[in-house]
Amino acid sequence: MVSKRNLLAHTLDATGCARVLRAARPWNGVLFWNYHRIGDAAGSVFDPHLFSATAEDFDRQVAFLKQNFDVIGLNDLEQAINQPRGQFVMLTFDDGYRDNFELAFPILKSHGVPATFFIATGFIDRPRMPVWDELAWMLRTTHVKTLAANEWLPTSVSLSDQPFRRLLAVYKSLGTELTEMYLEFLADSLGTGRCPISLASEQWMQWDMLREMHAGGMTFGGHTVNHPILANSTADQQDWEVGECQRRLVDELGSRIEAFSYPNGKRGDFNEFTRAALRSHGYRWAFNYSGGYCHSGHADHFDLPRTAVESDINLSLFRTVATLPQFFS
Ligand SMILES: [Zn+2]
Repeated sequence: MVSKRNLLAHTLDATGCARVLRAARPWNGVLFWNYHRIGDAAGSVFDPHLFSATAEDFDRQVAFLKQNFDVIGLNDLEQAINQPRGQFVMLTFDDGYRDNFELAFPILKSHGVPATFFIATGFIDRPRMPVWDELAWMLRTTHVKTLAANEWLPTSVSLSDQPFRRLLAVYKSLGTELTEMYLEFLADSLGTGRCPISLASEQWMQWDMLREMHAGGMTFGGHTVNHPILANSTADQQDWEVGECQRRLVDELGSRIEAFSYPNGKRGDFNEFTRAALRSHGYRWAFNYSGGYCHSGHADHFDLPRTAVESDINLSLFRTVATLPQFFS
């Protein structure tokens, strides 16, 4: 399926509008790209939506950015954001998947480009499947055709009609105290059981890998411990998630941790309690997932917009979004 974003990028590209607009109004500020996984989505039994690019495409994207923009690391952000003119680009990754170390890191190193990795430390400390990967695994494994409406599902769900999106939406709407019960319900009614924990341990980076990346010029930030949607959590839970992931990263990496990315990252996924927790733990930057770019002088450092890289972006569309980010928020 072609996303609205890709359709717009393709139209701009094909009609030559992009060339005209580029010449007329260059953007100034910082464009933050957000990746999750690098690799082959089709060959994975887990959530294919998490794959941002193949290794080859990522290599081409980094080469293009390096050639056309000022690619900065987190340590240069304060200076870049306050420049009245300039097109800065920063690369970020969320969650802590092992392919970040095995595939992305060597490519970044080969181009001499830094990136910032936001880690949900619970996945590193106690490897387990995140809901999106477990749900994708359940749907690939089950033989059930339909789930009847019940206390969890307002209407029946046909497994041939985008069940992943619908079942995940239910999960995201639940308070954190109910999410495990919901997964137990799905495991039971789909007949798959829960995803074996052994599959999870190869999924995530290990602390030694993070240390090697840190020594190689990469920076790290917090992404909670358990990856909850923070706005669904109490103020105390939020404070713990925000503070504890920072404490683990500081312990393991031995450097200050001042940046954070909100799990799920839409504007409704964090709130004033999240901001209060970030302030009290001394964070300076927090990133959302709303698209677009950050204008020069952007004042709200706890609401920095990032643009997602998704696997249906080919290089020509990637270039268009990079060149005209104001049309993709
Ligand atoms: Zn995440």
